[in-house]
Amino acid sequence: MVSSIAWEGKRVSAGSGYGEIVEEYSDTAILVVAAGRGLRAGGGLPKQYRRIAGRMVLTRTIEQFANTLPGASLVCVIHPDDERIFQQAIQEVRNKALQMYPPVNGGASRQESVLAGLDAVQAISKIINTVLIHDSVRCFTSKKLIMDLVAEARLSGAAIPGYRISDAMKYASSDLLVSGSVPREGLFAVQTPQAFDLGLIHDAHRRARKAGVSELPDDAGVAGWAGTQVRIVESSEPNIKLTTLADFEHAETLLMNQLADLRTGQGFDVHAFCDGDGFWLGGTWIPHSKSLSGHSDADVALHALTDAVLGAIGAGDIGSHFPPSDPQWKDASSDRFLVHAVSLVAARGGQISHLDLTIIAEEPKIGPHRQAMRDAIATMCGLDKDRVSVKATTTEQLGFTGRREGIAAQAVATVRLPLTGAGDE
Ligand code: MG
Repeated sequence: MVSSIAWEGKRVSAGSGYGEIVEEYSDTAILVVAAGRGLRAGGGLPKQYRRIAGRMVLTRTIEQFANTLPGASLVCVIHPDDERIFQQAIQEVRNKALQMYPPVNGGASRQESVLAGLDAVQAISKIINTVLIHDSVRCFTSKKLIMDLVAEARLSGAAIPGYRISDAMKYASSDLLVSGSVPREGLFAVQTPQAFDLGLIHDAHRRARKAGVSELPDDAGVAGWAGTQVRIVESSEPNIKLTTLADFEHAETLLMNQLADLRTGQGFDVHAFCDGDGFWLGGTWIPHSKSLSGHSDADVALHALTDAVLGAIGAGDIGSHFPPSDPQWKDASSDRFLVHAVSLVAARGGQISHLDLTIIAEEPKIGPHRQAMRDAIATMCGLDKDRVSVKATTTEQLGFTGRREGIAAQAVATVRLPLTGAGDE
């Protein structure tokens, strides 16, 4: 079974890369509410599109459902202004085991947004029985909790995650004067995903809108208002909702602690000068009285970097991925080699921490092109510029570079991979 992505009217077949998909959850839909504009956490982006440990929060949220409920359908409710960045978040999802449907625009309130999403879920397919309604900024929900909620909703129609409050609870006035205590007995803090029988929650939301009831705190509140009994699935896991800057910093630390398997790779390459009027070096065109010869575009710097990245993950060398004997790589632009190597790191759940390049040449002068190369390499690899170093040296007129016969390049890549067992976020 191969999943498909319905996107802008196109249906694209996508191999999962995770082996045969068991369509155990084809009767289940996930409705992710991502229409919020919350900028409180900084970064100038709605918080669901901010990156933690290199990946967008929404991408992480969706991927966790793909890892847990293969074959399920996904509908996201988004703000119309976010269409472009939403597409990027979806593109970066590595596990394609969900049936992904085009996003729905949110309404003026959360309740309206959820109803718009439920309308879309209902329209997808007659076989969907269970829907999980989830905050886009909870990306750490465990597989076990998600599966327990689906199982409970299938049995009883409405299930939400919650934990017993252990702190004392107080009422306070706006000037923070305590006005009373709340008995803790039987008090739960509840979260998402909230799992429901689709017909039941859709009907409850439609009835609430008709009755003009719009201030219910969550979807369990809507179900309860409509007379449905909601069951709590007790959980002790943090299942944190990323809200403040401190939440984001905490999440970053958590994930970086998982990416603690540090690897280093090195690469080396040489290309000879030939007649011409310039050459590509570090993804930058350098006008010169000579060119570099090679099967591809002969970008010796990108070749060394590609080998360094491949070396860090033990994935062979550039020749084993892009054989020079293969005519399709003739005159190929070398950025695709490096981008491929970087994608192999991402597929392992890892990320590049740093790239350090040394160009060895008597001519031309590299200094004037150094910043352009840094920019080009950083863009190709999706890295901040301060994670890319470009250096240059001569060999004091010794050896083949000293005789101006060609250019050599060396590179070192530092890569962070998940600790064994920690890749499963
Ligand atoms: Mg080469």
